[in-house]
Amino acid sequence: MKMIFESDSRNEAFARTVVAAYVTRLNPTLEELADIKTAVSEAVTNSIIHGYGGREGKIELECKITGSLVEVTVQDYGVGIVDIEQAMEPLYTTKPEWERSGMGFAFMEAFMDELEVFSEPGKGTRVVMNKQVGKPETAA
Ligand code: ATP
Ligand code: MG
Repeated sequence: MKMIFESDSRNEAFARTVVAAYVTRLNPTLEELADIKTAVSEAVTNSIIHGYGGREGKIELECKITGSLVEVTVQDYGVGIVDIEQAMEPLYTTKPEWERSGMGFAFMEAFMDELEVFSEPGKGTRVVMNKQVGKPETAA
């Protein structure tokens, strides 16, 4: 599944709802669903607020299911991140005056099984996260 949408805060709820609908076929628990929606929200919000800084831009959302593994990719072509490691530290934020708490990446990491961030200043940021959903398949 691939979707491209405008960097607009009203699309954040849309994006997380699309992913939630997409993963329905895996029969996720309510908790798993809430985790995935939160992670998608955080990544999309980051693209809107930090990546594009309120300016226009396209955000690409990709979702893939392999067995019971869900992989979500959120890509923007905004300002990018200079120091990814520092950006991912809990409580680190470049926008404290905007009442950001610097917990976005920490939430993505906590709510998903794996999180990878690729970014280049001036080019954009790609966040890839995955999570095992539903009961693990019982061995035959
Ligand atoms: P919160 O998510 O708690 O509101 P935050 O967005 O600042 O606060 P994180 O989501 O953890 O915290 O992101 C940490 C920092 O990484 C941001 O302050 C920003 O500098 C940088 N960052 C994150 N995503 C992007 C992005 N898509 N493009 C550019 N910079 C980003
Ligand atoms: Mg954030």
